[in-house]
Amino acid sequence: MVEDQIIKRGITEPSIISAMLNVPRHLFVHDIHKQKAYSDSPLPLSHNQTISQPYISALMLDLATLDSDQKVLELGTGSGYQTALLANIVTDLYSVELLEPLYNSAKTLLTKMNYNNIQMKLGDGKLGWKENAPYDVIIVSAAPKSIPEELKNQINVGGRIIIPIGANKQKLLRITKNNDGFNIEKCGMVSFVPLV
Ligand code: SAH
Repeated sequence: MVEDQIIKRGITEPSIISAMLNVPRHLFVHDIHKQKAYSDSPLPLSHNQTISQPYISALMLDLATLDSDQKVLELGTGSGYQTALLANIVTDLYSVELLEPLYNSAKTLLTKMNYNNIQMKLGDGKLGWKENAPYDVIIVSAAPKSIPEELKNQINVGGRIIIPIGANKQKLLRITKNNDGFNIEKCGMVSFVPLV
C-alpha cells in the first residue's frame, strides 16, 4: 500500500510514510472488508460513512505540512484511522465526531492501541473545538458546502485548514491564514461524505 499508492504518487514525507507503515489499517475496517483493508479505495463504515482511500488521507496530511510540535484538530473521526496516523506525527491532537457509535468505537480502538496523545469529543465539528483553540492545522474529513466560519476563528496566523468543499464531488482546499486574511489553494477534486 505505502509503496504503490503513496510513494509512487509522490508523497515521500518521512513522518507520513512512517505513520502509514506503523498503523495497521485492517484494525479500522469491518470484518467483511478486512481482505480489502490495504486496497486503493475508500471502504464503507457503519451509518453510511466511509474510511477514506489511503492516498487521500496521506494527501491531506501532506498538504497540512505538519511538525511534531503543532496542535492539530481533526473533524470527522470516523473509524479513527486518520486520527491514528496524526497521532504518530504530532503530540497535541484533538478529534471531533458527530455520530456516537463511531465516536465510541474509534475511542475504544485508539485507547486499546495505547494512543495517549488524542483528545476526543462527541459533537458538531462545524463549531470546531473552541476550548483548545487556536490550532496550527485543522483537517476536515467530511465535506461542507462552504467553509464553516467558526473554523476560521480557531486557526493561528500561518495555520492551515485542509477541507473538501462542495456537494457530490468536492474541491480539496488548503486555506492558510495570514496577517491580511486567508490564502486559498485548490488541491484537486475529491469525494467525501457530507459534513452534516
Ligand atoms: N478520516 C476518517 C473518515 C471520516 S468519514 C477515517 O479515517 O475513517 C467522515 C466522518 O465525519 C464520519 O464519521 C461522519 O460521521 C463525520 N461527520 C459528519 N458530519 C460531522 C460533523 N458535523 N461533525 C463531526 N463529524 C462529522
